[in-house]
Amino acid sequence: MSPEINIVTANNWCCSCGACKAVCPVAAISFVETGAGRWLPQVDMLRCTSCRRCEQACPALDRHGAIKEALEHVPALEDSEDIAVYAGKASDPDIYKCGQSGGMVTATLRVLFRQRKITHALVVDMPPGIHPRPRAIILDETARLPQKSIYAPVDLLSLLAELPADVNGIALVGLPCHFEGLTSLLTAESNLSGKIKYRLGLLCDGVLGRSAIDFFSYPPPSTDFSLTYKNKFYPDYRNAAVTVSDGDKIIRTVPAAARMKLKKLLTPPRCLICANKMNLFADVVFGDPWGIDGIDMEHGESLILIRNAMGQEIVDMIRQEQCATLRSVSASEAWQGQQMDTRIRRWNSSCEAYRRAGFGEIPAWSRINKRLDLPAEAPEIRAISEQISMFMQLEKMRQTEVVPRLLRLMYRGEWTEKILRRVKKIYRKLKGTSC
Ligand SMILES: Cc1cc2nc3c(=O)[nH]c(=O)nc-3n(C[C@H](O)[C@H](O)[C@H](O)COP(=O)(O)OP(=O)(O)OC[C@H]3O[C@@H](n4cnc5c(N)ncnc54)[C@H](O)[C@@H]3O)c2cc1C
Ligand code: SF4
Ligand code: SF4
Ligand code: SF4
Repeated sequence: MSPEINIVTANNWCCSCGACKAVCPVAAISFVETGAGRWLPQVDMLRCTSCRRCEQACPALDRHGAIKEALEHVPALEDSEDIAVYAGKASDPDIYKCGQSGGMVTATLRVLFRQRKITHALVVDMPPGIHPRPRAIILDETARLPQKSIYAPVDLLSLLAELPADVNGIALVGLPCHFEGLTSLLTAESNLSGKIKYRLGLLCDGVLGRSAIDFFSYPPPSTDFSLTYKNKFYPDYRNAAVTVSDGDKIIRTVPAAARMKLKKLLTPPRCLICANKMNLFADVVFGDPWGIDGIDMEHGESLILIRNAMGQEIVDMIRQEQCATLRSVSASEAWQGQQMDTRIRRWNSSCEAYRRAGFGEIPAWSRINKRLDLPAEAPEIRAISEQISMFMQLEKMRQTEVVPRLLRLMYRGEWTEKILRRVKKIYRKLKGTSC
């Protein structure tokens, strides 16, 4: 009988964490890209022995109640004053320059390697010409830690199956859903528990389907183009949300407004109903310091939230090694800067739109569903319903059809405007008027 992983993917509950692949004893699970670019596990039923270990590890199914249990013990979204918050930037100019925000994730990994606290860092990389992939970095490769945020789902936890059995001392850099996967996985496979020493989380407002990468790079300038979100080497990087390069040469920039429009079309429904955007299960969490007074928004800084004693230990190490400049900032300012009220309201409307689209509720989140009892707003629900329906239409298309469709959806309005302006101009010319 096929495992319930199929139910998880059919209901749009899958966050692509990779926990299922990590535990499968017969390597029956691989990941495939859907039309709109979800990155989903697929079970090879010829290999599958129906052992059900993948179900036990899946955070969406939460068979052991590990996610629900953990939610009882972490500071909730609204308890922000219990959390120490810092802003800062890496002291090493190269790390800082290449960082997405202040380069603090990479500066932290460097310290952990230098102090021999870890032997491996599990990170996400997007080398030129290929889609993102999970990657295990070892001590000798510390200088080549990948930087920047990659707005695509990546099955980071799959890597755990590939590491040698005697590895002890891993730092995992991941999105909130990677840590949900890890929480569930460690309950199912306790032999892995001692291996993960540090959990470096990122804040997250959602990924884009992987087809966004094909869209941004269309037509590809070469076979090994590279794509950078927020390229600090580009003079007007705040307006150019994405740059596409061929070697050192920037071939194309995608304006911030176009990226926002694409976000509406390509955010996977799972991200719309994600209640864990502040990364509840990490030791320390990194993000952008939106809304904090006196921040260097021109060149970037990182926001750092300490979630537990391990997180504080990490910050103490950073201070001792003087590898970053850090200062305390107000937690409530950070919360407002992340527009938590708007996110929670939108989350509430999204859950309703999700139900109306016929998808079931994620079992793991039943407790948090009850806690955030906020009024849902009808027009917003309608808008999100349309968004989900558009995504599902793209899902039904072949991958080769998606980019042309996206181009039409993105620029149709602008082309119509251009044609109208031209027609009006000709009309005015014929009538001899000037306005
Ligand atoms: C999909 C996504 C959504 C985000 N949303 C928000 C948000 O709403 N608000 C906010 O304040 N911050 C958000 N962030 C975090 C922010 O973009 C920066 O990653 C964070 O501030 C750290 O910057 P840095 O300069 O310290 O990291 P860097 O030194 O540049 O290191 C970046 C690290 O991110 C890891 N990474 C990149 N892409 C992924 C991925 N897809 N999955 C897992 N790990 C990845 C890399 O492995 C690398 O270790 C998001 C990040 C991602 C990837
Ligand atoms: S049921 Fe067992 S063998 Fe089948 S895919 Fe899941 S983990 Fe692998
Ligand atoms: S374990 Fe993770 S990747 Fe696998 S089905 Fe569950 S949510 Fe998806
Ligand atoms: S919004 Fe939630 S589900 Fe989506 S990528 Fe971020 S953490 Fe994962």
